[in-house]
Amino acid sequence: MPHTLESLRADYDALKARGLSLDLTRGKPSAAQLDLSNGLLGIDLSDDYRDAAGTDLRNYGGADGVLELRQIFAEVLGIPVAQLLAGNNASLQFMHDTLVHALLHGVPGGEPWVGQDVAFLCPSPGYDRHFALTESFGIRMISVPYLADGSLDLPAIAEHLADPAVRGMWLVPTYANPTGSVVDEATARALVALPAAAGDFRIFWDNAYAVHHLTEAEPAPLDILGFAAEAGNPDRVFVYASTSKITQAGAGVSFFASSPANVAWFREHASVQTIGPDKLNQLRHARFFRDAEGVRALMRRHRELLAPKFALVDRVLGEKLSGRATWTKPAGGYFVTLYAPDGTAARAVQLAKGAGIAITPAGAAYPYGDDPRDSVIRIAPSLPPESELEPAIEALALCVLLAEAELGAP
Ligand code: PLP
Repeated sequence: MPHTLESLRADYDALKARGLSLDLTRGKPSAAQLDLSNGLLGIDLSDDYRDAAGTDLRNYGGADGVLELRQIFAEVLGIPVAQLLAGNNASLQFMHDTLVHALLHGVPGGEPWVGQDVAFLCPSPGYDRHFALTESFGIRMISVPYLADGSLDLPAIAEHLADPAVRGMWLVPTYANPTGSVVDEATARALVALPAAAGDFRIFWDNAYAVHHLTEAEPAPLDILGFAAEAGNPDRVFVYASTSKITQAGAGVSFFASSPANVAWFREHASVQTIGPDKLNQLRHARFFRDAEGVRALMRRHRELLAPKFALVDRVLGEKLSGRATWTKPAGGYFVTLYAPDGTAARAVQLAKGAGIAITPAGAAYPYGDDPRDSVIRIAPSLPPESELEPAIEALALCVLLAEAELGAP
């Protein structure tokens, strides 16, 4: 039965009267997911705090991170261990520090970026914190919309690279936040081979969801550093990853990887900042995982908890919004992107807020918060239990329909 503005308003009033308080904003692991790694909290290092080489990890030093853990993630991420550093709990900090070093010192082969007109390509919709970081440093952001099939617009990227101001590009290659897009090998090889006017152009390859599969397919991460070297641009890519959504989001381990020259550059500048990361936490992680298969096995248990939530979101959206909106069906990662009818996203999010459902602000997935079609709504299904997720998605769908009906109303 077609909805009328009046019937939707009545449904919305009834929704408000329920006094819900639900949150779909951030891609945080649920308590049940965090419980999967409670073993970490019980690992007693009181008389076993040395690494395999016998180094006392309680002390300063070991700036590259604990070798055992780096070996595990070298295999998980498909990166040579000598090119992989392990840090503290947030890969965002590695990204921040890379930008600071680039701004103040310049990357290998380049001048400091500070004081120059520096621009970053931002495939959009993308990760709001990437955009917040770049904006905070005064780096100009150029939105590069994904194509309708979720792939990168390589011709547009190639065109932008002719501009010498373009020094960087954000990219979440696996199960992107929030679109779920996956960069395939041909695209990855093209990206590292494209001619760039700026000799110091860098791709910030944020592989935050490298092993976060929602289906039984578990594709291995692309050898992006190898591809870059083969293409004759070995220094083009900075790689980031972390265990934030593998073990415990606030107490995990982050990773930085790149070419030997870039790693040496990063190490040099980091050495004045810290005498080394929290190696005991890294040791606990190495003991907890045991090996790369330990990481993969843990991710399958996350999948068991997460996949039903994504299926629920897809089912409810299908029941409520079929024919009115489209949405992604990601094979991994943490988000569903809902493409509401043009011109309705901000209003729908506002309506949802009025009914007690917190949604990431419309536009957040675009540089400067500017979604040109006012369409994208990011849904993060991981945190709430299914009993809360279902009413939240139903409510959001109602808000989208009401926002659309209001648009058409005189
Ligand atoms: N990168 C992406 C694409 C993310 O979605 C997130 C968290 O949502 C992060 C990085 C944050 O990573 P970390 O916790 O390692 O700082």
